[in-house]
Amino acid sequence: MKEMVGGCCVCSDERGWAENPLVYCDGHGCNVAVHQACYGIVQVPTGPWFCRKCESQERAARVRCELCPHKDGALKRTDNGGWAHVVCALYIPEVQFANVLTMEPIVLQYVPHDRFNKTCYICEEQGRESKAASGACMACNRHGCRQAFHVTCAQMAGLLCEEEVLEVDNVKYCGYCKYHFSKMSSRHAGSSSFLPGRRSRSASPAQDKPPRTTSAPKRTPKHQNPQKPPKIPKIPKIPKKVRNSQKNPKIFQIPPKSPKIPKSPKR
Ligand SMILES: [Zn+2]
Ligand SMILES: [Zn+2]
Ligand SMILES: [Zn+2]
Ligand SMILES: [Zn+2]
Ligand SMILES: [Zn+2]
Repeated sequence: MKEMVGGCCVCSDERGWAENPLVYCDGHGCNVAVHQACYGIVQVPTGPWFCRKCESQERAARVRCELCPHKDGALKRTDNGGWAHVVCALYIPEVQFANVLTMEPIVLQYVPHDRFNKTCYICEEQGRESKAASGACMACNRHGCRQAFHVTCAQMAGLLCEEEVLEVDNVKYCGYCKYHFSKMSSRHAGSSSFLPGRRSRSASPAQDKPPRTTSAPKRTPKHQNPQKPPKIPKIPKIPKKVRNSQKNPKIFQIPPKSPKIPKSPKR
């Protein structure tokens, strides 16, 4: 499975920002691209950068996400010595990050067994019955809907979204079954509080065309959702930088500062 999503393996956004560049893994045959903040990269190296999987030298066959059946994508170690996708960790509600700054290790122990017993309706629909019951499932965010699915299956189908939760000054990572997603999208068309998954790469093929607007995302100043990293808002502001303005094609933009993180998330 190549090109699991366009752009960042975690948030699917293709844009990079000065304060949050899109970083590409230099591992042989690895397609991982992640935003600095989406993968918890404290300092982007000036030289080559490797995702944790490529860095680990672990036999590729042994590196599989404990939460879904898909192998590619941006993985991190779990606290029990396995691996999980960062995106799976964000969207399965009970999964935590032991350290929200580095986003590792991924803590799976609070995930109820029930999630591992569900079957993914997207896998079933696409003829992957043997995979449907592997890993853990998230559920359609529509109250009363019983559809369950793998995070990465929903990501590939463009069913993931981020909804603003004002009380905690953060976002809720959620997804909908195809039916409810289409209803949500039509109802929320134009609303900024609903950020459906970004278009696939094929929908905006101009990789080397500068984006019309870029924003300078900043960490939200406070968040009370300590087990998940604070979300970087993607509200377009003043166009500041254009893509490919640098010689180094691996990193869009200058060496980043370490992202600011509110002190003392207790866990
Ligand atoms: Zn991202
Ligand atoms: Zn890699
Ligand atoms: Zn996964
Ligand atoms: Zn699935
Ligand atoms: Zn639904």
